[in-house]
Amino acid sequence: MPLPPGSLLELTPQGLYCRAAAAWIDPWRPVPRALITHAHADHARPGCGEYWAVGASEAILRQRLGAEISLIPVNYGQLHRIGDARVSFHSAGHVLGSAQIRLEAGGESWLVSGDYKRCADPSCAPFVPVQADVFITEATFGLPIYRWQSGAAVAAEILRWWQAAPERSSILFAYTFGKAQRLLAELAAIGVGTGGQPGGEGNEILLHGAVEALMPAYREAGVRLPPTRPASAMPRGENLAGRLVIAPPAAHRSVWMKRFKLPQTAFVSGWMAVRGARRRRGYERGFVLSDHADWPGLIQSVKGSGASQVYVTHGNSDGLARYLREVEAISAEPLEGDFQQQRTDGGDAPGVPGASRGNQGDSLEES
Ligand SMILES: [Zn+2]
Repeated sequence: MPLPPGSLLELTPQGLYCRAAAAWIDPWRPVPRALITHAHADHARPGCGEYWAVGASEAILRQRLGAEISLIPVNYGQLHRIGDARVSFHSAGHVLGSAQIRLEAGGESWLVSGDYKRCADPSCAPFVPVQADVFITEATFGLPIYRWQSGAAVAAEILRWWQAAPERSSILFAYTFGKAQRLLAELAAIGVGTGGQPGGEGNEILLHGAVEALMPAYREAGVRLPPTRPASAMPRGENLAGRLVIAPPAAHRSVWMKRFKLPQTAFVSGWMAVRGARRRRGYERGFVLSDHADWPGLIQSVKGSGASQVYVTHGNSDGLARYLREVEAISAEPLEGDFQQQRTDGGDAPGVPGASRGNQGDSLEES
């Protein structure tokens, strides 16, 4: 469904546009002014004249879009006047520096969720409930089968898996920005890397270069992480048995894997909740951990927004909108647009034809 003409937000070929602020939210193409919810590649694209984003995401945005971009860093909760609109960014709990964006003008308020989750995550600020007349929510995991357990519980499972195979390297594959750092922070939170625990000196967690590149931003943000080393810094021929390694899915079955003798492998993703997804990709184990809201989290957030009109993007947008209308009596529609097609990091369920279009080889990633 298109947005009603004359609304505060409209859908243009470049993406969601707020005429009052003369700004696009997470535009798909270069525009003069972009309001960015977070630094994942399908939300933050190069070539825009001016970027507004939460300060905690600045280092990663500059790393990904170019050091020279014109970026206006903002704080969570701060109110900005942009053109004729009042705009504020509020924590989305998705990844470091992620935000929901609230816009208000002409007596109308809209909230754009970006990607968000409600589970506690020690690597970023928690989701903050915000109210608005209209809420645009994502629905990547918009089915009742998706219900997440806590990150601490998943970290404990991972620790058991790792410790049960001291004669092998244990390689976890996870999305490089956000998921990998959350995994490290969740492991630190259950003691990994502290005195006498696994992951301490001489047994640091090893990182693929793509993961390593994101670490300075997290360390500078003060996120508590266990000691890590780049895998490439280990002397050649060193026995890496008993080491935990974190790498991007693109490294799975690549030449990079050759230095690990008979490693055990696991994939970490919300999609691991789908039967068969792990086996199809050739991982020995799957751990279910997502940086998106699960079904109860989506419903809770829609209700918490107090919105009288809801639009749904990504994933099962039809199903969530129907549920909201029929069960919760909230006016809700899927939002037409290129949201799903524009997912560069594979937001679709695994095994869906075309799901990995344009995803640079990491089709099971959640962005
Ligand atoms: Zn994302």
